[in-house]
Amino acid sequence: MCRFFLFLFWLVLLVGCISVKFEGSSSGQTKRALQESFLFKSADIFYPNGVPDDPADLPLLKKAQVREIEDFLKAALNANQSVLGVIGENVYNREPTRALAAKIRASNTGFPVVSVNRNGVITVDTKIVQAAYRSALASNLREAQAFDDFFGEIEARSDREVIAEFLRIKKIVDETRGRSLIGDLSTGLEDDSWSVLTEAAFLTIDLEQSFFGVLSFMLAHELAHVELGHIDLLDTEALTCKRLVEVELEADEKALETTFFSAQAQLSPAGVFFFPDMFASRLGASDFFNLTYEYANFSGAGVRGCEYPSREARIAALEASFGRLTEKRALSPLGILEEN
Ligand SMILES: [Zn+2]
Repeated sequence: MCRFFLFLFWLVLLVGCISVKFEGSSSGQTKRALQESFLFKSADIFYPNGVPDDPADLPLLKKAQVREIEDFLKAALNANQSVLGVIGENVYNREPTRALAAKIRASNTGFPVVSVNRNGVITVDTKIVQAAYRSALASNLREAQAFDDFFGEIEARSDREVIAEFLRIKKIVDETRGRSLIGDLSTGLEDDSWSVLTEAAFLTIDLEQSFFGVLSFMLAHELAHVELGHIDLLDTEALTCKRLVEVELEADEKALETTFFSAQAQLSPAGVFFFPDMFASRLGASDFFNLTYEYANFSGAGVRGCEYPSREARIAALEASFGRLTEKRALSPLGILEEN
């Protein structure tokens, strides 16, 4: 029951960001809403064949799935651009016109590439989006802990168990008998169907936050390359190995600022205070460097035989930027980039 009240409390605070509608819903309506939710839609795209033997084997995608992934990328880019349209001057001290004109396309080559060309076209390989999705699952399901057992032991799951748990929740929702409101009232709220539906409702929102958080940080980084004129350096002598390291760190810093202002604008101050984890997952930087980076198998090799800055150097630089931002914005430090 405690779980149900926590859920209500959560709904009251964050009613603006909920993608599954509960108000006045019966379990039958909630079940149907869940089946239309991000959890169901995304599971069919990213794990259509069930639990893989090796979680590192990302499933091969069909054309339709690549198109759906491209739609996710477009949505994340558009969200970044509309946020930049509003807060762009806070980030760039001027209107970010070049970033607002950038475009996106998904490639399906199997190589973990995110790049942007001189025309401001960002290419993201589906392999990276798959890795971002796996990050969202790990970030939300790695720790197995019963809600009512608040002070109990936290058990870490393997990535294979994470994917299995995720598909199990989805299956249980499918098999739960959704009832009418009258049916719900006559059986009460404590029976299994509500608890599974509630768990799935939490999960779909958390997953969506984490997944789009990572995409958002990644695309904000590419938009920064566009806006700061880094793309003009491509294929020129001016892009030395030293300069490459600098532009990467500059783009990370701007990406953190973009996502920071955007997350702050979306969550109420109460939301930021009560749900620091959600604020952090909206920023995406932490999941990107702690999880996606490894899942996508990013290599340190940059262009023209130069090395990109190391993951550790990038995390350290972002931690410093985050410290400056929270100081400026009078927020308590959240330790977002700590290793899990
Ligand atoms: Zn870059």
